[in-house]
Amino acid sequence: MPTLDIKKENQQEIGANQYVQFIFEEVQKRNPNEPEFHQAVKEVLHSLIPVIEKNPTYMKQGVLERIVEPERMISFRVPWVDDSGQVKVNRGFRVQYNSAIGPYKGGLRFHPSVNASIIKFLGFEQIFKNALTGQPIGGGKGGSDFDPKGKSDGEIMRFTQSFMSELSKYIGPDVDVPAGDIGVGAKEIGYLFGQYKKIRGGFEAGVLTGKGIGYGGSLARKEATGYGTVYFVNEMLKDQDLTFSGKTVVVSGSGNVSIYAIEKATQLGATVVACSDSSGYIYDKDGIDLSLVKQLKEVENERISEYANRKPSAEFFEGCQGIWSIPCDIALPCATQNEIDEISAKILVANGVKAVGEGANMPSTLEAIDVFQQNNILFGPAKAANAGGVSVSALEMAQNSARLSWTFEEVDQKLEEIMKTIYKECVTAANEYNAPNNLVVGANIAGFVKVADAMLAQGVI
Ligand code: GLU
Repeated sequence: MPTLDIKKENQQEIGANQYVQFIFEEVQKRNPNEPEFHQAVKEVLHSLIPVIEKNPTYMKQGVLERIVEPERMISFRVPWVDDSGQVKVNRGFRVQYNSAIGPYKGGLRFHPSVNASIIKFLGFEQIFKNALTGQPIGGGKGGSDFDPKGKSDGEIMRFTQSFMSELSKYIGPDVDVPAGDIGVGAKEIGYLFGQYKKIRGGFEAGVLTGKGIGYGGSLARKEATGYGTVYFVNEMLKDQDLTFSGKTVVVSGSGNVSIYAIEKATQLGATVVACSDSSGYIYDKDGIDLSLVKQLKEVENERISEYANRKPSAEFFEGCQGIWSIPCDIALPCATQNEIDEISAKILVANGVKAVGEGANMPSTLEAIDVFQQNNILFGPAKAANAGGVSVSALEMAQNSARLSWTFEEVDQKLEEIMKTIYKECVTAANEYNAPNNLVVGANIAGFVKVADAMLAQGVI
């Protein structure tokens, strides 16, 4: 990537604004046709202008040029045989984005939409999210365009083993520690771990997180992302003398993040009235029966539409966008990227939403975030609000290294403390840079400064 020649020109004239603009244009040029990646970079870079102004060393040392470029991007062939004996080929990825503060850490996503842009946006976000957790973990992400939907257990196992046969060359407990994400849960992590163990010939528990409790997993890891999002939103509410109690909540998705966000919001006295999957959403005016959602999604592998067949108070609606037209006090997008666009954001605001907490990665478009901020809606950005999952992953690594395991209560308590600290750090950074109440700016700056300072300390590498 070309660097901006700040020596030849007058440094004052170049300014932070121009530097950031230059970096963003270069990112667009050098990574064509990667809209999600551009979106994630744009949001972060824009927040950093006042930081660069205050500390021009970041510009002089080319920190932005370096931080937007992955340390390593691996793309590989994943051949496997389906149940009918046919050979199939998918594409696997791992981006090892930044290791300034610890081994690369981040999940694996198995979904047909996975491509270089998606993996790079997720990996880039992960750098700052992981820094915010206060744990020693760098940023990484991976996955494949393999679609687990409709596949047999045997097919999933064979695909996953083939994926790990290649990935195993690049990971390790002190190098890169993958975990789950969309399409990768406890079952897939089990197959991945088994194959890694077979290849390496040793029990390196800390190479993956999200493992089963019986072989090195951490209690409360499964609950961590959803619980963490609610803990974070609870802090935002508390600052305005509000609580979850008595509030109406809409949670999109019905995967791991959503289920445990519903559970914690309900425990705190809220009524969750809707959730969704990729085919549509259910509205249950009596409040979601979470045991039924768990039965359908964790046991039966059923569509969410089945909920309405089994519970007369619920209605099913096709399509995902409509969920945001249900009036609510708190919206928790926990499904996938860009699920709330400008129109949905405006509908939420018109219906009186008070707070939005992002459980998924980048679920709101840049335009939607603008709408929330212009209308003074409390907004918890993904990097901060969904950092609970990776935080407990780091606690799982700590337990694996110490060869012990903590109780559910111990881990849950640590998680709540971590989420409170992340919230405080975001608020402090936002205030320090004259953007009070702007947690997007706060999260980006607080995460960036930790990583950038570690990069500066380690020289130009
Ligand atoms: N995929 C999760 C995330 O987006 C968890 C990553 C991990 O536990 O390493 O943060």
